[in-house]
Amino acid sequence: MHSSDSRIETLAVHGGERVPGPDGSMVFPIYQSTVYTSEPGESYHDIKYLRLNSTPSQAYLHDKLAALEGAEAALATASGMAAITTILHTLLRAGDHLLVGDVLYGGTHNFLTGHAEGLGLSYTMVDPHRPDTWAAARRPNTKAFLVETITNPLMRVGALREVVAFARAEGLVSVVDNTFASPVNFRPLAAGFDLVFHSATKYLNGHSDLVAGSVAGSAALVDQVRKKLNIYGGSLDPHAGFLLARGMKTLAIRVRAQNANAEALAEFLAGHEKVAQVNYPGLADHPDHAHAAELLSGFGGMLSFRLAGGVGAADALLEALRLPAVAPSLGGIESLVTRPSLTSHAGMSPEDRAKAGVADDLIRFSCGIEHPDDLLEDVAQALDKV
Ligand code: PLP
Repeated sequence: MHSSDSRIETLAVHGGERVPGPDGSMVFPIYQSTVYTSEPGESYHDIKYLRLNSTPSQAYLHDKLAALEGAEAALATASGMAAITTILHTLLRAGDHLLVGDVLYGGTHNFLTGHAEGLGLSYTMVDPHRPDTWAAARRPNTKAFLVETITNPLMRVGALREVVAFARAEGLVSVVDNTFASPVNFRPLAAGFDLVFHSATKYLNGHSDLVAGSVAGSAALVDQVRKKLNIYGGSLDPHAGFLLARGMKTLAIRVRAQNANAEALAEFLAGHEKVAQVNYPGLADHPDHAHAAELLSGFGGMLSFRLAGGVGAADALLEALRLPAVAPSLGGIESLVTRPSLTSHAGMSPEDRAKAGVADDLIRFSCGIEHPDDLLEDVAQALDKV
């Protein structure tokens, strides 16, 4: 039996599992049933129905997510975007205000800049590294503070402990997007955050074969989010939920391998004459290295870098790489590379990109679980061709 004190490797395998499962099964089956029979007179709120997140497959997945996060309760959603938009709709009503980190996943950024105003919501973007600026940005109608653990694509780590302390002192709900770190490298609820969410599409699943999201926190908060999700309809299909639970069982060993690959690659790149800049919080010269080392139990599988040769060299490198595919997602077992200016940050104006430090020639590398020597040899041969 595992306990909530078990280590993350054990929680990933055993957390939330029902053994024996139905008919003695070792693996909890997929109940691909939309609805379940109910007693005459049973209320709508008590019925088991997929959109209402109340079926056995969903209950199993929620327990597994909660165990991994060390949470009272958790919820799966149909995508990472369904998680963030449902959380924001839960915490904020028309007239409310949000404090939010100024470097955000593109979809979150688009939601705020393109849709918040129409919904009567306002927000102020603040620098997560500058706690001294937050009080001035807080308004009487501020309800929540949202940040990301490791930001894309420069892998910055903000003053997360201070976010928690500020939110507590000000009576705000603290929310963190922990997608890039995964629960292996950062456990937000243990650090005091009220709600954590993920694009489970990435590390939690880890096999680049589904889209899903997750939300975890206190039973009371997660229940509020679930009620909103039940209305908005962003519930996860049980087949995808099965794959997600299967992927989660290997989360810890995958992420540890990805951390090790990223560390080895970052160090190799940092020492290469054709490389102009490497962004990885595990490197001693990264601006957040010292407090990232205190906050995180691993620096993650993501890094970015620039070549001395600019855009032409970046494209030549992507062309010459044999192992990593050129694709904009992350967190899977296979390494992927992309140029964020053309993909994740293409929606920003060139001026905004420049302000955010996202140069046109920046290359983002999502490390898979290949052998580090094979990855390094491949990157070395590709750099030779640049
Ligand atoms: N948050 C982060 C940090 C992401 O990288 C992504 C997707 O790339 C999302 C949220 C949105 O997740 P999804 O694509 O599963 O909707």
